[in-house]
Amino acid sequence: MTRKFVVGGNWKMNGDKNQITEIINNLKTGPLDTNVEIVIGVPAIYLAYVKSIAPSNIAIAAQNCWKAPKGAFTGEISPAMIIDVGCNWVILGHSERRTIFGEKDDLIAEKLKHIEFLLRLMVTMLCRIRHAQTGFYASKIIILNLRIKNILACEKFEDEKLEELLNQDRCQALTELGKTLQVKHALESGLKVIACIGETLEERESGKTEEVVFRQIQALVPAIGDKWNDVVLAYEPVWAIGTGKTATPQQGRKQTLHPGVSRDNGTSFPDIGDEKPIVHQSAQDVHAALRNWISTNVSSDVAAQIRVQYGGSVTAANARELAACPDIDGFLVGGASLKPEFVDIVNATK
Ligand code: PGA
Repeated sequence: MTRKFVVGGNWKMNGDKNQITEIINNLKTGPLDTNVEIVIGVPAIYLAYVKSIAPSNIAIAAQNCWKAPKGAFTGEISPAMIIDVGCNWVILGHSERRTIFGEKDDLIAEKLKHIEFLLRLMVTMLCRIRHAQTGFYASKIIILNLRIKNILACEKFEDEKLEELLNQDRCQALTELGKTLQVKHALESGLKVIACIGETLEERESGKTEEVVFRQIQALVPAIGDKWNDVVLAYEPVWAIGTGKTATPQQGRKQTLHPGVSRDNGTSFPDIGDEKPIVHQSAQDVHAALRNWISTNVSSDVAAQIRVQYGGSVTAANARELAACPDIDGFLVGGASLKPEFVDIVNATK
């Protein structure tokens, strides 16, 4: 199955009307590969402006949205509003939302306070359940699982997977639940979603890349339901975002680190007394692993059609090599999407 290459630009909190007009004019001049789908993620306040000046072959995304259609959520925008101004994509779960704005632990817990009472009750209970040993709490797990399944209206949310998710630490469970609800609401509202996942440096260095990204994708499965066609996954290792470091593109370039051996940046790897080598996967390795996971846990059809973007310090200089990897189906580009070189990145498969 051929997957249409999809390149997203994530402008983050950059640009004013002048600069935006310049970027759009540059994209109009292109020339842009017509076989590539292009989605630009613009600051919410400029969504309508960009929509009014962008050519129709460029789709426009918001960079975040709330998980309800309207209401008392000061400062938030809803999927319905994004659609109302003529845009049909949203980027969700970006690591900056989580790391800078604390869209994990406390803030997500705060946000969850605003959704219906039942869910609030469940989350409180789940936090307790993790530490619970008694039969009383065990019986609650079953009830809460049923409630969550109802709320998420999800057939695929199997008990086993749910428990695996919820047995992780409290912050992770809250983060994944919050993100899941955002994705679910956005998709139900008719938006297409670029769903971001990726491991931190610490997780990578302790050899947990796959464990982390599998956990993140697993949390999204119930929210996506049967709407896989409306989802693009963006694998963005957190340590590669805005740092100038990218995961090495190709297979066969795995970097195996042994405790006590120095890393390529010259720093010493602490001797943790564990002889197990730590394998640093290339971008292609992680993309292939994600596709495999989807094939096993969702379906082989979805695995064959889902587009997985790579994000993290993509530039015109590294885009071609990354684009040549069989499981990399596009990019999510931050800094370079504000520059003329974005055109070259879009054209990287040409
Ligand atoms: P970067 O950002 O390309 O500047 O590393 C990528 C992203 O945050 O999506």
